[in-house]
Order: sequence, then C-alpha cells, then structure tokens
Amino acid sequence: AKNSGRDVIRFFDPDMQAAIEARVAMEEELRAALENGQLRLYYQVQVDNSRHAQSAEALLRWAHPRRGLIPPMQFIPLAEETGLILPIGHWVLDTACAQLAKWQADPAARHLTLAVNVSAKQFRQEDFVQQVTAAVERHGINPLLLKLELTESTVLENTDDAITKMSALKEYGVKLSLDDFGTGYSSLSHLKRLPLDQIKIDQSFVRDVTTDNGDAVMVMTMVDLGMNFEVEVIAEGVETEEQFKALQRYGCASLQGYLFSKPVPIEQFEALLHQGKRR
Ligand code: C2E
Ligand code: CA
Ligand code: CA
Ligand code: CA
Repeated sequence: AKNSGRDVIRFFDPDMQAAIEARVAMEEELRAALENGQLRLYYQVQVDNSRHAQSAEALLRWAHPRRGLIPPMQFIPLAEETGLILPIGHWVLDTACAQLAKWQADPAARHLTLAVNVSAKQFRQEDFVQQVTAAVERHGINPLLLKLELTESTVLENTDDAITKMSALKEYGVKLSLDDFGTGYSSLSHLKRLPLDQIKIDQSFVRDVTTDNGDAVMVMTMVDLGMNFEVEVIAEGVETEEQFKALQRYGCASLQGYLFSKPVPIEQFEALLHQGKRR
C-alpha cells in the first residue's frame, strides 16, 4: 500500500541510514580494539586526608589509532547495548589484577588497593562472583587489595540478587564501594542491608561544596552516615584546595580528584608514586 511505501522510504532516510552504519562500524571497531590491544587502563590516585596515596581507580580508555584517546562515556554505552561490555569487563578485571600482582614487588605500591568499575550488565551475570575470584586466583593476589565499584542503580536493580553476590564477594575478601552515591534513589533501609566497605560521594556534591550550603549539608550527612554504618567515605572530583579543606573539615577520610592527579597511564602513575615516597 501507499502508506507502507512511504514508511519504507522514511526508513531509508539517508541521515538515519548513516547513523546506523556509523554505529555498526563503531561496534566492529570496538570488537577489534579489544582483540588488538587498543584498550588501556588509566590510574587515578586516591589519597587519605593527609594526602598520602592509599589506592587508585582504574579508568578505561580506548587508544584509537586515528581518533586518539577516546573517553569511556563515548563507547561504554554502545558496549553495554551490544554485550561487548562483558569481554571488556573481563579484560579490565584481569588487567587490574595483573597490575596488583606487579605492585607486590614494589615497596612504594605494595599497600595500594585498586578499584575497578563494574557495569550493571557484568554484575548481573550469573557467574560474576566466580569471574572475580578466578581473576584474583589467576594472578595470585590478596583479594583485600581489589575493590569493586558498583553504582547505586546497579545494586538496587535487583537488590536480593545483588546482596547475595556482594555477600559472597565480601566473604571472599574483595572490597565493595558504592559509586555515585547520593545521585540515585537508595534509601537508608537499603544501605543498611548492603555489605559495603566504602561509599563514594558523587562529584556533583563536591563541585559546589564550598559555595552551596545545600551541597555542604549533603556531604556532611553522607560523612556522618558512613561513620554510623562504619563504612569508609571517599569524595570524588576534588579539584581545589578549598574543596579539599572543606572535605577534611567535614571528616571525609579519602579523596580523589584532579587536585591530586588526573587519571594517567601506568608509567606516569608509578613515577608519581615514587616521587611522593622520596619527598
Ligand atoms: P566514574 O566511575 O564516576 O569515574 C569518575 C570520572 O570522573 C572519571 O571519568 C574521572 O576521570 C573523572 N574525574 C576524576 N577526578 C575528577 C575531577 O577532579 N574533576 C572532574 N571534573 N572529573 C574527574 P572517566 O575516566 O571519563 O570515566 C567516566 C565513567 O566511565 C566512569 O565514571 C565510569 O562510570 C565509566 N568507566 C570508566 N572506566 C570503566 C570501566 O573499566 N568499566 C566500566 N563498566 N565503566 C567504566
Ligand atoms: Ca568509579
Ligand atoms: Ca563516580
Ligand atoms: Ca559519575
């Protein structure tokens, strides 16, 4: 019929067609990137309130041969839709554990824990706990050195299943951090049930902590919450000395942000670490 003919014509809208082709091309490129070793982990230091390095967060980058370094927000959504996040997540976990194993031979790095971001799809896998324990065992590391960052939405999607997995991981010794805390809809009753080691105050609260009283109150409340639940509190996105001082004053034990270092390649991260030791 005429109408369906028109629909077909609309389907072949050249702009839309180009967008679909670009997506398919990017998916193929990303698959190849994983196989050809174009994915990188960058490392961002996490410090205690006297500025000593205590851990790091591993952050994914795609070193594209033509387009340069691509940040995760430009390819992780596609990776999640296509399922590529599963092999990518596996690579991230394996690479992080390999790095922890190497650090055991370095007196300046031996004490560091390493945080890895886990996507919702990865966490939902039935064998997620085994994937983690297998990676730890493959590299013969102490599970206490590995920290998994889960977002509020990941954990609250299917809370009972999440608690089962988190309890098993905690029992095994792996550390658990709740990422982007304060942005989701976690209620106190949920928080109480989650076997967490750390909550991570989202950078949206840190940004205006010195100028917006509402954000300052939020930060203080989250720090108190952590103290009462005996969970470590870390603030992310700390960019200025003023923010650092305010967070110190509010009793925030751990901090991360450009003020201390941007996420950097491993060589640079280790150089920073050794420099810090000499000072
Ligand atoms: P996230 O886990 O909330 O990570 C924090 C983001 O804030 C990182 O962006 C980091 O580079 C950035 N950041 C750190 N300090 C500052 C600061 O002082 N100021 C500002 N403005 N930003 C700061 P990045 O590296 O682009 O990562 C973005 C997101 O991509 C991450 O957000 C995380 O959700 C996701 N991601 C990164 N690596 C992985 C991974 O290996 N697996 C999965 N599933 N997701 C990842
Ligand atoms: Ca994170
Ligand atoms: Ca975060
Ligand atoms: Ca975030």
